[in-house]
Amino acid sequence: MNASTAAKPVPGPREMMPAPARPDTRERLLAFAFASSDLLVEVDENGLITFAAGAFPSRYGLAPAEAVGTAVERLVAPEDRAAMQAGLAHLALKGRLRPVALRLADRQQSVCAFAGLAIGNADCQRFCLTFGPLAAPLPETGVRASDAEGFGRIAEARLRDAVAAGRPAQLALLEVEGLAEVSVMLGRESREALLDRISSTIADAAPAGTQSELGGGRWALLHGGEANVETICRAVEALLRERAPASSAPRVTGTELRLAAPGFSTLQQVRALRLALDRFAAAGRAGLAAAGFAKGFSSFLGTLAGQAESLRSRLQRRGFRLAFQPVVTLSDRRPHHFEALVRPQSGTGAAETPQSFVTLVEAAGLSAELDLAVTKLASDSILATRSTAVAVNVSGVSIQDPSFRTSLEQALDAAPELRGRLLFELTETAEIDDLSAARAGIDSLRERGFPVCLDDFGAGAASLRYLKQFAVDYVKIDRIYVRGAETHPRDRELLAQMADLCRAVGARVIAEQIETEAQAAIAVELGIEFGQGNLFGKPGHLPGLVGR
Ligand code: C2E
Ligand code: MG
Ligand code: MG
Repeated sequence: MNASTAAKPVPGPREMMPAPARPDTRERLLAFAFASSDLLVEVDENGLITFAAGAFPSRYGLAPAEAVGTAVERLVAPEDRAAMQAGLAHLALKGRLRPVALRLADRQQSVCAFAGLAIGNADCQRFCLTFGPLAAPLPETGVRASDAEGFGRIAEARLRDAVAAGRPAQLALLEVEGLAEVSVMLGRESREALLDRISSTIADAAPAGTQSELGGGRWALLHGGEANVETICRAVEALLRERAPASSAPRVTGTELRLAAPGFSTLQQVRALRLALDRFAAAGRAGLAAAGFAKGFSSFLGTLAGQAESLRSRLQRRGFRLAFQPVVTLSDRRPHHFEALVRPQSGTGAAETPQSFVTLVEAAGLSAELDLAVTKLASDSILATRSTAVAVNVSGVSIQDPSFRTSLEQALDAAPELRGRLLFELTETAEIDDLSAARAGIDSLRERGFPVCLDDFGAGAASLRYLKQFAVDYVKIDRIYVRGAETHPRDRELLAQMADLCRAVGARVIAEQIETEAQAAIAVELGIEFGQGNLFGKPGHLPGLVGR
């Protein structure tokens, strides 16, 4: 090697690039150079878009600059937002995300390959994300609109989007009377084929909407106002007439609820939607009417204030009891602690489920009252046992509320013997918009010696953000991944990534709703420490209660 070549090294890629106008432009160009993508974005550590380029006008009707400052999850279909968060979590941990398949939130729900690269430094982390053409088909996931729970979550996300964008949102609810009789006449295969035909007839009425069979001859369709429920009912009736003798042709009835009601908070609207779906799935039109939806969605919301007083007095009179479900250490299956779950007293309300009771209380703005009343009753139960520990659910709505925090802190300071035996599960994190208030609430509980668990991790789009913002002792991974992991490789991979991420931030991991030995085995294989679910014990009495 002669002296001149040794003195002049071959320029590397950095040296060959033109000097950037701003120092970070080069990093962006390098990061984006690795993919020929449809959409390119840079996001900050809170998932907010700081730079956007590509096909925004054709996909979303937006100039790229208009996307800056918005949450990146809005680019993705609600069905895949949790998967996107898991991808972002992986990216934050490993620095690079290889392409995974996701559906975009454009009209066609186009499937794309989502990939990313972490840039920046530990103080200021940023991510370059690309959405490009997909090489392989989309792997199956358990997070789908095709079951009532999955549909409910997606419908809530769509309603939030519609409220934020000022767009209409409507819920068409259909009920087929006499379907059971027709089904009896058909064999199993033709019965399933018929249900599929009904589902696709409903879906065809609003191709950009989301529909689901709710069971019991009931269907729901969430759309932007383009479908007409009466037309759908007649189309489904025509379909059924082809299959059933005229004498027993089923009747199809429909109800349309106009959502996105102006004048009500997003929280109230989302809870009212959850309640309507819960009641319709359980008892059809009669259930909707009994819950107060007979005159429509806005009218129901309007009557909530009137219900608040009786609900408040019900909470104060302890018109509920608690059931306790074990959370076990997976290695020996012994209870580590118990989760307190509210149970409305039987005889009150028409066929009320725990979920509908909690939802109604939240819709009426009484989350804090419920959480305080449950904490008090759970504390009394703990003190009536020798050593049992109990976790109570605290809603994201309550934890941001300063007067809730003051009342809770006073109660905890007056009962130091509860330290280490009372835990808090933060649920409904989707409702947290004041991150610093929520963080202060969590920190104050932990400083007092009360461990905190992040509940339903992975259910909401912003899970990663909460894991980064809140220091917690436990994370409970959402049931959808636990259930899906058994049958869907993508869910198993997501479950593994989430468990890794939780451990990386120092939290102990709980898998919820374990129902089968196969699910328990997967949790153990993935190194998950705790499990909860009917396999280990259903909600029931708290063991060791003195005098029981
Ligand atoms: P969560 O906190 O995720 O509670 C777990 C839910 O899963 C409970 O339903 C429990 O009964 C159910 N579960 C547990 N294991 C299994 C299983 O193996 N299979 C099945 N199918 N289900 C299982 P639950 O009691 O109906 O509560 C529903 C939700 O209501 C809770 O979800 C929580 O978000 C809320 N909630 C319940 N009690 C309270 C409370 O005291 N305060 C607040 N703020 N929310 C509560
Ligand atoms: Mg919970
Ligand atoms: Mg949970």
